[in-house]
Amino acid sequence: MSMGGGGSTLTPLNDSGVDFSNFTQAYDFQQEILDDTILQVIANTYARYFWYGIVVVIGLATLANIGRIVHLKLRIRAAAANRARPAAAHTRLSQFVGGLIAVCREASYPQFSPLSTYSWLKVPPFGILILLLTYLAFLLALEFDDNDIPGAQHYTSLGVRASWLAVAQIPLLLLLAGKANLIGALVGVSYERLNVLHRWVARGMLLLITLHFGYQSYGWNQYGLMQLEWATDTCPPTGIAAYALLLWLNLSTLAPIRNRFYEIFVVQHILSFVAFVYLVMAHIPSTALYARTWVYVGIGIYFLDRLIRTLCYAYHNIRPANATLEALDGGVTKIRVQSKQVKSWAPGSHVFLAIPRLGFGQSHPATIASIPSSHDGDLVFILMGRKGFTQNINKTASRRDSSYSKKEAAGSVSSSSEQAYIALIGGPYGASHSDPAAFDTVLLISGSTGITFTLSNLLSLAHRARASKLPLRRVDFVWVVKQVCWTTWVTEELATAVRDLKEKGIDVNVIIHVTCDDNFTRLEGSHGKGCSCDLSLGPCCCDADIQAAPSFEKLQDSSDEITDLKNESKVETSEKVAVTVISKSSTENLRVKSLPFATFVSGRPDLLEIVYNLAEQAEGEMAVLACGPLGLSTGIRNTVARVSDDRAVHKGTGAEGIYLHVESFCW
Ligand SMILES: Cc1cc2nc3c(=O)[nH]c(=O)nc-3n(C[C@H](O)[C@H](O)[C@H](O)COP(=O)(O)OP(=O)(O)OC[C@H]3O[C@@H](n4cnc5c(N)ncnc54)[C@H](O)[C@@H]3O)c2cc1C
Repeated sequence: MSMGGGGSTLTPLNDSGVDFSNFTQAYDFQQEILDDTILQVIANTYARYFWYGIVVVIGLATLANIGRIVHLKLRIRAAAANRARPAAAHTRLSQFVGGLIAVCREASYPQFSPLSTYSWLKVPPFGILILLLTYLAFLLALEFDDNDIPGAQHYTSLGVRASWLAVAQIPLLLLLAGKANLIGALVGVSYERLNVLHRWVARGMLLLITLHFGYQSYGWNQYGLMQLEWATDTCPPTGIAAYALLLWLNLSTLAPIRNRFYEIFVVQHILSFVAFVYLVMAHIPSTALYARTWVYVGIGIYFLDRLIRTLCYAYHNIRPANATLEALDGGVTKIRVQSKQVKSWAPGSHVFLAIPRLGFGQSHPATIASIPSSHDGDLVFILMGRKGFTQNINKTASRRDSSYSKKEAAGSVSSSSEQAYIALIGGPYGASHSDPAAFDTVLLISGSTGITFTLSNLLSLAHRARASKLPLRRVDFVWVVKQVCWTTWVTEELATAVRDLKEKGIDVNVIIHVTCDDNFTRLEGSHGKGCSCDLSLGPCCCDADIQAAPSFEKLQDSSDEITDLKNESKVETSEKVAVTVISKSSTENLRVKSLPFATFVSGRPDLLEIVYNLAEQAEGEMAVLACGPLGLSTGIRNTVARVSDDRAVHKGTGAEGIYLHVESFCW
């Protein structure tokens, strides 16, 4: 019998001369298989290599982020100094870099995700998929690199390496989970966008622990030592329990379970993770206790995040805010929160909003539709009443509005009769997109309550355009709503922003696509592109169409169509018919008239046409900010990638790049 991983060198361990029917000999041999004195040192080195890789990736992303911020700030300065086309790439170097960025964008933007049949299965965009595959390849490379030792410890070596790599995932897992997110702050990506990586690191850890469990068990089984190991070692029971918990943690985060019982999910997730960490600590053998360092670092990161969040929360709510509610068409509530503490946030930020009287112990993410300089500094939310909390808010607001109307009719109403609720604010978070003011052309496109994200950006552009000259020349604001009356949610805000931008010479176009309004879609000749309505089948709703992302093939086939569309005046004509007619005959005429600057179109937007036309006319880099249902998100992603590729950005065609940011209301 030779020494294995327990000596100062790795000599192959073999079972020659071992009598496995003799308990003492079998036990001694088992201990030699388990002895990882050298193996653990090597495995820990590989765990460190993993972190070197992570640090390099975060470092590069941080540099790219700093470069991005500086570049955009320089454009703003150039515009203020009245330089021509400040958002365009003028030098050969900037065109070369712009070309490289365009290639990366074209590869990373597309997303193909099932929309209806398997709606719970959300496939991330290509960029995330590439990142995840690289991560997986890196893990497997570290697991198997120079890890083929001969003899009875072959599988011990593979198992030990996997376990050290697994435990080294814990700090990364927790770094990606926090809301006060260090990685996010460095690389300029908000915590909710990192959440998908958090889930995949958990899956990576599950894979490594599966390898650890599988290799160790196989190695013991080869010599019939499995039973002996379970009878004489405390590690297997704690290990299998930790493995089961990790499996549960991964399964319970799958979208159908997570979304169905969200509040329960959050509580059990934290408790399960605490139990998991406890079992991991108990599982680590006394010969390798320094492996716990990885766990301690993870715990430290978790508590630091909690501490920062708690302090911010305490500060923001030391003088609780007041919320007033207004029920609007479409089951939506406009919530106006007057806070003395939360006075600054970036456009597109969201907070966790709690109104204890209407949902005890609940706080829900909601995007701030206002900016600090609008609405007297109040935070304004437009929240769709869906299930529990949001529906309760909407019902309360509707009840209040109807009793208010009765009082108003009876003449017994005063301005003070508006009921205010105590509101608690967590955040603000998010808004990690590039500053749209630094682009030549901006397309803001949203569906339904996604307007909260695009409106706050529009308001911010208008506010900043008033203060100084921006690189911005043109803004197209596209909003997809089911019914015309939904536009009342933000009539005043839109009107003010459009007026301010126009006053500063910025070309603004507001296009509202209506998909499910009988008054609108039934009108003869009012159908825009992509919405064919058979009125004999019932109300003319085009929302199914709206959610359908154009397939890659369809986009490829449509290159000819793009040219046709540019010369076509049919769409233009039908839009005018729709707006004119509706102004005369619809019951909603007042509301439509109140948006005289907006063009109303029936049916879903033709994303390809919109993006292509804007890109053709842009005199510098263009930005697309989108927020809406998954269909709209995937559609705009694929369209932008396609248009950028078609126009051969910075490849001698004179075409400028297209930046895209897609915000979604789920993670
Ligand atoms: C960043 C972000 C911004 C959002 N902004 C808006 C907005 O401006 N307007 C709007 O109408 N909707 C917005 N939403 C969606 C809104 O938060 C949900 O529709 C709402 O929380 C659903 O709550 P509920 O009481 O109706 O249903 P519930 O049954 O309580 O929840 C339904 C689903 O909502 C999600 N959810 C609930 N609570 C949370 C939470 N604390 N954290 C994360 N997800 C949660 C979960 O997926 C859950 O399964 C946003 C969501 C996110 C993630």
